[in-house]
Amino acid sequence: AAKQTGEPFRRWSPALDERTSQYARLGAQLRAGLDGGQFRVVYQPIVAVPSRRVVAVEALVRWEHPVRGPISPAEFIPVAEQNGLIFELGEWILATACRQLAEWRTELGDLAPDRVSVNASARQLARPGFANTVAQALAAARLPADCLTIEMTETAVFQGGQAISTLHELRALGVRIALDDFGTGHSSLGLLQTVPVDILKVDKSFVDNITETGRHTVIARSLIQISEGLGLTAVAEGVETAEQADVLEGLGYRLLQGYYFGKPSSRPDLAAREAPFV
Ligand code: C2E
Ligand code: CA
Ligand code: CA
Ligand code: CA
Repeated sequence: AAKQTGEPFRRWSPALDERTSQYARLGAQLRAGLDGGQFRVVYQPIVAVPSRRVVAVEALVRWEHPVRGPISPAEFIPVAEQNGLIFELGEWILATACRQLAEWRTELGDLAPDRVSVNASARQLARPGFANTVAQALAAARLPADCLTIEMTETAVFQGGQAISTLHELRALGVRIALDDFGTGHSSLGLLQTVPVDILKVDKSFVDNITETGRHTVIARSLIQISEGLGLTAVAEGVETAEQADVLEGLGYRLLQGYYFGKPSSRPDLAAREAPFV
């Protein structure tokens, strides 16, 4: 990256300029990556407590860049959103995830997860026809609509307009809707009164320090109460330790997700987990 030179009148930033062109380059490489089959989908278990059954999996996209190696979706999804490739990429992720769950259902029967949860970005949601795309992915995989959850952030929903219509269309199909990273946005509570939502995914930041002192459990406790009060299902995200799992279970959380229960993987362990060793 270009160094700050401290030259007095240089107001444009070479670092910023370089970042912009890197962004453009990554955008072009996304196209090549899609054509070249460089993407895959991994699945992270969502586990019920106390049974420890894997009731669902969250689909998460991965990009193996031929030169840079693995690139985080946190880096390339915004680029795909910006250059419009998110529509094609998103459709592929959706179709792949639906096909995978259909395969598990055939292979594993009752041991297959009940649902797969797929992330949708703000632009996908705001585009008319998204619910049709979802319906087509389900039909192509011969998967019932109640096997699919679409996850979206509050920010995406907050755009209003078409995004809200899309939610109603998805609901009409029988697809569940999850509000992702719940509690980190600005309008969370107001949104819940107006937007059709089934699941609240309580953000990792409220799980992280949960075992330190009682003070840190306040928000996690409030969020499960809100969720129950509204008749919604809560999922706690980013559970990394047995202690966190225990505290969350004690607070009333029945669905947990995080490295403690399994990292995202192409071949996730779908068997019910043993109780943790002490
Ligand atoms: P997200 O939807 O909130 O997904 C959860 C992220 O937390 C994932 O990161 C997951 O690997 C990670 N995670 C899960 N459990 C733990 C844990 O116990 N500890 C820690 N430290 N992390 C945990 P990932 O896969 O890198 O995805 C990052 C973000 O990129 C996602 O956040 C989502 O916003 C976006 N993303 C990922 N896949 C897709 C996709 O297929 N479509 C769209 N539109 N966005 C996606
Ligand atoms: Ca998610
Ligand atoms: Ca999340
Ligand atoms: Ca997140």
